[in-house]
Amino acid sequence: MIYLDHNATTPVLPEVFDAMRPFFCDQFGNASSFYTTARAVRAALQGARHTVASAIGAAAEEIIFTASGTESDNLALRGICRMFQGKSCHIITSSVEHHAVSKTCDDLETQGITVTRLAVDSQGRVDPDDLRRSITPSTILISIMTANNETGVLQPVKKISDIARDRGILFHTDAVQAFGKIPLKVNDLGADLVTVSAHKIYGPKGVGALYIRKGTKVAPLITGGEHEHGMRAGTENIPAIVGFAKAAELATASLETIAARTGSLRDRFESKVREKIDNVSINGVDAARVPNTTNITFHDIDGESALLHLDLRGIYASTGSACATGSSEPSHVLCAMGLSKIDAQGTLRFSLGKGTTEEEIDSTVEALVATVETLRGISSIHV
Ligand code: PLP
Repeated sequence: MIYLDHNATTPVLPEVFDAMRPFFCDQFGNASSFYTTARAVRAALQGARHTVASAIGAAAEEIIFTASGTESDNLALRGICRMFQGKSCHIITSSVEHHAVSKTCDDLETQGITVTRLAVDSQGRVDPDDLRRSITPSTILISIMTANNETGVLQPVKKISDIARDRGILFHTDAVQAFGKIPLKVNDLGADLVTVSAHKIYGPKGVGALYIRKGTKVAPLITGGEHEHGMRAGTENIPAIVGFAKAAELATASLETIAARTGSLRDRFESKVREKIDNVSINGVDAARVPNTTNITFHDIDGESALLHLDLRGIYASTGSACATGSSEPSHVLCAMGLSKIDAQGTLRFSLGKGTTEEEIDSTVEALVATVETLRGISSIHV
């Protein structure tokens, strides 16, 4: 198998699994209980909070563990809006956000919140001047992702946060696809709220975190006990949280090496694809991107058919975000970048991981050559 879908999810590393294991059957106590074994569990929870915090340059008390990146995005957006309940509220976001943000904004809109979705240029970037012009006296929050899940394109987050700070507006960034791929420190981002998720960095699924800058007021979405500083009730999923921390620690320690490796493999992949297959375009290639992601339009082919061909050869890639796969709608990200629906549907995403090899890259290129030749042959028969 050649797995090139690391932006969808990653395998749990053996070291991560080993770190989680004791917390299922042996150290199973509830972190809120008082006896000795529970104290050890509480210590593990606190240790994990410190580790995840330090991976993004935050303080432990600024980290809220949640059940996913999706939940963290919801907590950021809905939790801020609830603090302004009864007032006229405006959110600025981009037209290329992950559904965890975009659909949450759609829902907030039905509750009377005004939402501006900034357009992006052909490379998928928002224009900070456009953002500046979109601010109104009611703007309470700007939510713009750090790295796009489909193209890997990085947004000018620092410029955005400077504008937000100047105007006294809160800034949230969904950094799920940036964490573990580029250096990510909350003060460099200048963000008040930052979303991260474990399963994109070789940690377990079903655990995420929201960084909330000290002093930022967010209303909880889940009420009950006093877990997570009262911000997210529910007995903590200790094995998952401990696994998340281990994954964050390993990702931070190996970031530079892995980024350099995946970056050079990605460049090799792109240049071989261009050399061997005509009529392709690489989306977002002129923008700064995370090193592991490439998003390629193979003109005149159907992307889902191409995925099936690759699947038969044991190569796993994707047509867009994992959540969009299975819907026949073209990617909203690619459409926002100006691609036609047909071109968007002829686009594949390849996301490399720490285990990706040169041989895998070369085999994938060969498989693509054959796939594209077959599909273009078929499509010309139909024309
Ligand atoms: N945000 C981005 C940019 C993502 O890529 C994803 C997952 O694909 C999410 C949020 C959602 O994270 P989770 O799968 O942990 O809910």
